[in-house]
Amino acid sequence: MVERLHRCAHCKAPYTWQASGEGCFEPLNDQKYCADCKKVVLEALMRVPKRFKPARLDQTEIALDQAEGHYQEQMRIRAEQNGGLVSRRVMATVFRKGEAKVFNIIEGFGPHKGKTLVYEYWPSERHEGTVQLFAQEDLITGKKTACEEFGGLNEAEKYMWSLPKNEHGA
Ligand SMILES: [Zn+2]
Repeated sequence: MVERLHRCAHCKAPYTWQASGEGCFEPLNDQKYCADCKKVVLEALMRVPKRFKPARLDQTEIALDQAEGHYQEQMRIRAEQNGGLVSRRVMATVFRKGEAKVFNIIEGFGPHKGKTLVYEYWPSERHEGTVQLFAQEDLITGKKTACEEFGGLNEAEKYMWSLPKNEHGA
């Protein structure tokens, strides 16, 4: 666990911010505000209706084989750059009947350049695998559009964990 002494951006009181470890995702643990101020911020935000929610969007341009080939190529390039060492991001894996679900996030390519793709399948049912785009759903119109704001896969991964649980398969 890493803790740092911070000064609240609003009330200027010193407080301890927990940078990592169990509890660092607690809503009142904030890099910028002390717990008292953060509580007020959260209460104020609760009165603002949400306009979008994270979603996934089906697409037909990129097939599962292409997406997986792209991922493996990226891993190969990364391994080359690191002298054979691949630092693979660890994803929460879902198991059933002795098999693990294959689940990967890749940078968009071809017609989806600048967007983020996710593919997943059960090895025994690969033909039913999907390749989808990270998207946002407009809560007023119900329209889903692809997200284009991710600068890297780490950000995309954080987004993934904000999807409803049944949508990232965990
Ligand atoms: Zn404060």
